[in-house]
Amino acid sequence: MKALKWHGALDLRLEVIERRPLKAGEIRIEVAYCGICGSDMHEYLHGPDSIPVNVPHPLSGRVAPIVIGHEFCGTVVEVAADVKVLGVGDRIAVEPEYRCGHCIYCRSGRYNLCESMGFVGLMGDGGMAEEAVVPAYMAHVLPPSLSFRQAAVAEPAAVALHAVRRSALRAGDDCVIFGMGAIGLLLVMMARHHEAGRIIAVDVDARRLGLARELGASDTVDASQGDVVQQVRELTGGVGVPVSFEAVGRPETLQGALGVLSKGGEAVLLGLMPEARIDTFDLVNRELRITSSLGYRGLYPELLELMARGVVDAGKIVTHVVSLEAAIQDGFERLASAGDAIKVLVQPQSLEVDRDAGSGAHAGSS
Ligand SMILES: [Zn+2]
Ligand SMILES: [Zn+2]
Repeated sequence: MKALKWHGALDLRLEVIERRPLKAGEIRIEVAYCGICGSDMHEYLHGPDSIPVNVPHPLSGRVAPIVIGHEFCGTVVEVAADVKVLGVGDRIAVEPEYRCGHCIYCRSGRYNLCESMGFVGLMGDGGMAEEAVVPAYMAHVLPPSLSFRQAAVAEPAAVALHAVRRSALRAGDDCVIFGMGAIGLLLVMMARHHEAGRIIAVDVDARRLGLARELGASDTVDASQGDVVQQVRELTGGVGVPVSFEAVGRPETLQGALGVLSKGGEAVLLGLMPEARIDTFDLVNRELRITSSLGYRGLYPELLELMARGVVDAGKIVTHVVSLEAAIQDGFERLASAGDAIKVLVQPQSLEVDRDAGSGAHAGSS
């Protein structure tokens, strides 16, 4: 079967690999879609960030080269003999967090903090392939009305939902969301679902800000048009907001996320940055909080229901669907060029269908 493997920075390879037999507790999935995530882009452009290259991950036992991709869904085609809760033909979404099941964090239900935590598709073989093998505990059966295309966005939607739950955001509270990439746009939808008051979206791209408005942002601030903190203060009668979300991953946006807060406010950090300067005098003096949010836990069944009921239409952030053959050129390279792409889905099964639906951008990617 065909799979897209990460060998190193700027070195993804489409390879034909052997199907391996299932181990106890595992299932095999025919992949319907696998989204390209910001973390995949980090690995592609200047990895390894989290892909193990020397020491195998304790739960997957794998080192690079690995099949990349953690945002995927598909149909179960085989289950190990000991797997009783799933069967062949089940349509599922993958919650791609490895967990040991017995550390102090797993035992308290906080498996996203597991001592051996890792992601399928980064620390073990993932979903950019015709088929994928994952532990059965990662599989969630889809509600019948939920399409694969929507389910493919469940993983980033889970990131956004977990972050909103980690926050102190209550109904009626205003918030500012920095960065209208996939996660930021999903945060807009989740904040709307949580009945936030004003939802102020910040980005430098007018088109993304337009999409944020469509998805529920009440106000937008173009960060290329002057000081964001000042613009937010003008929108909020000089007070600022009780909650902000940083989904960019830059020191200056973290400073912005703190700057827009009212006293006692909370900045929720999702973006990854190696280090940042924080004005700790301001932090203490205004009794601000910084909360971080990692992955998700215990919310997939509810999230999939929300998506099936249309409360959260995460499929709206999908801008492109490409074949496995075209994934590097029309997926990774397109995202790297900072153009029109927000969420690109790779569709391993349907080269022909994909070409029919394509915009002609697949030319030359045979
Ligand atoms: Zn992701
Ligand atoms: Zn654990």
